[in-house]
Amino acid sequence: MNKNPVNIFNDDTICALATVAGVSAIAAVRISGSHAFTITSNVFKAKSKRFNIKTVASHTVHFGSIVLNDEWLDDVVINIYRSPRSYTGEDCIEIFCHGSLYIQQKLLEWLIANGCRLARRGEFTLRAFLNGKLDLSQAEAVADLITANSKTAHDLAMKQLRGGFSKKIEGLRQQLLKFTALIELELDFSEEDVEFADRSQLLLLIQKIEREIRSLLDSFSVGNVLKKGIPVAITGKPNVGKSTLLNILLNEDRAIVSAIPGTTRDAIEDTITLEGITFRFIDTAGLRVADNEIENMGIEKTIEKIKQAYIILYVFDISETTTEELIESLDELENLCKEGNKKIILIGNKTDKLIEIPSSFKKLVEKETVFISAKRHENISLITEKLINIVKKEQIDNSETVVSNARHYEALKKANDIINDIIVLIPQKISHELLAADLRRALHYLAEITGVQISNENVLDEIFSSFCIGK
Ligand code: GDP
Repeated sequence: MNKNPVNIFNDDTICALATVAGVSAIAAVRISGSHAFTITSNVFKAKSKRFNIKTVASHTVHFGSIVLNDEWLDDVVINIYRSPRSYTGEDCIEIFCHGSLYIQQKLLEWLIANGCRLARRGEFTLRAFLNGKLDLSQAEAVADLITANSKTAHDLAMKQLRGGFSKKIEGLRQQLLKFTALIELELDFSEEDVEFADRSQLLLLIQKIEREIRSLLDSFSVGNVLKKGIPVAITGKPNVGKSTLLNILLNEDRAIVSAIPGTTRDAIEDTITLEGITFRFIDTAGLRVADNEIENMGIEKTIEKIKQAYIILYVFDISETTTEELIESLDELENLCKEGNKKIILIGNKTDKLIEIPSSFKKLVEKETVFISAKRHENISLITEKLINIVKKEQIDNSETVVSNARHYEALKKANDIINDIIVLIPQKISHELLAADLRRALHYLAEITGVQISNENVLDEIFSSFCIGK
């Protein structure tokens, strides 16, 4: 825990390195806050005699030097952004210096000595949010955009940053607000026992909102998978070549292979990115009928991993498997994959051991089947092509709104639980007070997503703007 918590609404002028800490050709230091200009002018000497920090125009670039007490540190370029036309909405300056660690360190030290505070994680974006430059979900998209390392994750973040998701949530919130407005109005006239809103109309409206939220909730499994990588499980009997194949798949793409460290060795998963799509490989112990407890535990783990996977690579050894055995294993596998629309790719391995592929296996071509020799690295590209095609076929329509953030999912889930309660309660003639209280809670959760504050005034505003009271 931070021992000296800083009030998020503070008026400090903050500074931080905007580029990666390390040696580079050029580094950028960002400064934001009401004293950004005066603090910078204490350490910056412009080349142009006409330069005056008080009058300099916004969105201009200036050359000069960083100098303090006659100590010359570096020649730099600075960018000027005047409030409110900056990322944070405050006065902002970016200083581009040479990327030596000494210069970066010294520049920050000098800025701090002149009144800046070192920014906390995400504080520039937090200020952008507090100053209304971004809503909360857009601010979160900035973080997603920076960490996105595949095209799909990048597309998702970009869409959220552009505000498509916020608009969808705001649209839902407005619908719910309208509904709440009607209920609150009845509350005001409760002594007269009037009903402004037809109960069955209300029910239809709230059911429509529920359906929209449910479809957003459903999109989370896709959104989460696209962001984190498509889970692919490799399974099959022991010694069929699963590990050999996994190593080849990962090595084919060595440059972008990365390990996701988990809490235990078990949870270490490798990813590869093919045509902008990240696949997360899950190695499994293999499927077979076990006669001892330890093996059974391994099988249970395999089953669990298959359940987490979206695509399953089932490897079999063509030199040691009969078609009957294969069909039996497939039945078992398909049984496990009933839920969740999983895709299975059959991989007949060790083609090098036979002169030709037994014709009985060829009958399986209507299934997604490929024949390879992992040992000789033959036909591996057939597997990667299939992986890419499966995802491309399933890829979400670009116009669809997808939830990819767990916080948004949680908030939507809470809002939807309440809405479902309301749907049950409306026909039971629930009191206006209880209904209004439930609605306000649901609205609160939706508002939490984009960070809009909801107060009772909003509800009243809604009444007067959309309802003709004289009628
Ligand atoms: P796993 O238990 O399914 O992970 O199987 P392994 O990858 O450990 O492989 C078992 C054995 O099969 C090893 O000796 C591998 O060298 C061998 N092997 C794997 N792929 C092939 C292949 O395509 N052809 C041949 N002939 N042997 C293979």
